[in-house]
Amino acid sequence: MEAKSQHFLLSAEARALSTKRIHRLSDEEAFAEFVAIRFSENGGAPFCPWCGHREVYAITTRKKWKCAAAACRRQFSATSRTNFASRKLPFRDLLLLVAHFINALKGISAIRLSHELEVSYKTAFVRLHKLREVLSVQQENPLRGKVEIDGGILEVMPDLKTIAPVGSIAGVFPIEQASDNA
Ligand SMILES: [Zn+2]
Repeated sequence: MEAKSQHFLLSAEARALSTKRIHRLSDEEAFAEFVAIRFSENGGAPFCPWCGHREVYAITTRKKWKCAAAACRRQFSATSRTNFASRKLPFRDLLLLVAHFINALKGISAIRLSHELEVSYKTAFVRLHKLREVLSVQQENPLRGKVEIDGGILEVMPDLKTIAPVGSIAGVFPIEQASDNA
């Protein structure tokens, strides 16, 4: 099995999510979309999250799969071994959560997310925290091939002790001051 290069939340599939489109998805379509993202490192085809085996049997009625490896044979769902495993949210909401999180360049507040998903502030807060946790964890393998990096602002707080009095701005930032006057 090829080593995974990045978390599925950072996949091109996850970054392409549009909230407008997600709102129009049926339950089945939302499930299919989530599966495609979750297993994006295998072209969207489910593989065993326990042993990595790629041959699995679908247990379609329960939206689950069973590993075909003789030594494993474990059952798994689309959220097994992800931080959505204890999810109480429908797949459409999980997609919205990911879309809002990935697309909010300046970060998204728990209060705004709770309105967007129509869930409690606490649920939104916990979900955001878990997503940040996932993305801050050291990746198991370094990124390879073509790497794209996006910027994001998590928090901007001025340090009050270093804010210069108005009169000294020109001295602190002579170049900006000069171009402003030009
Ligand atoms: Zn397995």
